[in-house]
Amino acid sequence: MNYDFIVVGHGLAGAVLSYTLRKRGYQVLVIDEPRKDTASKVAAGLVNPVAGKRFAKAWLADAFIPAADAFYTELEQRYGQQLYFRKPIYKIFSSVGEQNTWMAKSADEGWQGYISATHTQSINQPDVQDPFGGIMINKGGYLKVEETLRLLENELLEQGMLLPERFEMEHLYLTETGVQYKNITAKKLVFCEGYQVVRNPYFKWLPLQPTKGEVLDVEPDNFKSDCIYNKAVYVVPVEGSRFKIGATYDWRQPNEEPSEAGKDELSERFSQITQKSFKVINHRAGIRPAVRDRHPLAGTHPEYSQLSVFNGMGSKGVLMAPYLADNFADALAGKTELLPEIHISRYFSLYYDYIKHQNHQT
Ligand SMILES: Cc1cc2nc3c(=O)[nH]c(=O)nc-3n(C[C@H](O)[C@H](O)[C@H](O)COP(=O)(O)OP(=O)(O)OC[C@H]3O[C@@H](n4cnc5c(N)ncnc54)[C@H](O)[C@@H]3O)c2cc1C
Repeated sequence: MNYDFIVVGHGLAGAVLSYTLRKRGYQVLVIDEPRKDTASKVAAGLVNPVAGKRFAKAWLADAFIPAADAFYTELEQRYGQQLYFRKPIYKIFSSVGEQNTWMAKSADEGWQGYISATHTQSINQPDVQDPFGGIMINKGGYLKVEETLRLLENELLEQGMLLPERFEMEHLYLTETGVQYKNITAKKLVFCEGYQVVRNPYFKWLPLQPTKGEVLDVEPDNFKSDCIYNKAVYVVPVEGSRFKIGATYDWRQPNEEPSEAGKDELSERFSQITQKSFKVINHRAGIRPAVRDRHPLAGTHPEYSQLSVFNGMGSKGVLMAPYLADNFADALAGKTELLPEIHISRYFSLYYDYIKHQNHQT
């Protein structure tokens, strides 16, 4: 069979991209090595329009949020179950200084519709510690990422469009008309390998920074809430009386092993939000594909036009992937330009340095 695209990797990036390409009528084959704890499978799936301590609106939130909303709603309709849960996010101020930072920021234009209330004192929710108040954020929520991937995978398997195995580079040949992989041919191949792109001989020059993250599933005693809390960590009400607490950031020793230090850090931060005791039900770790400039990595190889990459979603894959997959698919079809902020051309100089270095060694 001659495919239009082979997509390597079926984490969030590969899943959203391959679905987007299929919807446009392309023949797509996905090759994904089944692994238990990928970044996508352990992610809490949070979409938060307000980024970090600086209270900045997330990059392109006005475009990303409606695209994510529409994409996940379409999947819900396709599979007949809820996958994306829209929830208010209570971002708790940790000090008067933070209150002031927000007050200065809140005058900026563009917050319309994102903030439903600013509280300069505790809102007196039972068992929640918020002496300096906080802001109530709209347009956020969380996606059940693992379940979403499972549904998409099952559909691909049923239709013979998924090879659940590791893609081995030594079987890849670049041809005049595209690529050949074992007995499969395709016009283009898109790598969506998450952090494992650092081992990809064609794209290892990209400045990806694998960043470990850990999450806990906990069951607190008598603590119920329908909103997401955010103060140093996020606390997401997932099912019944369960909450997901995340996440840590560690780029020094990225591995997928949950650690005692990670568990302690998350537990300690959770106890700053509520002092309720809790049982840890699950503890997982994954590795995010983060990028130096915090923007994703998409585009076609500077020399081999058959090979592209769609990666680098960092800690915001759920928010960014749907809009960017559309932009990427449009660019592949020659209908538009890729957003310059995500285009790998911003790092082509690293590629030429890499090639120079390789030539020097041989
Ligand atoms: C602890 C933690 C919490 C997070 N929380 C959130 C959150 O709340 N909200 C949010 O938006 N994001 C969150 N993220 C980030 C999010 O997980 C990433 O942005 C996103 O999942 C990256 O998806 P990906 O497809 O690029 O990578 P991955 O999820 O790593 O997927 C890559 C896939 O490629 C496959 N693969 C790699 N190499 C090969 C090969 N050679 N052959 C075959 N298959 C291959 C892998 O098996 C895997 O299935 C979190 C991440 C972590 C670690």
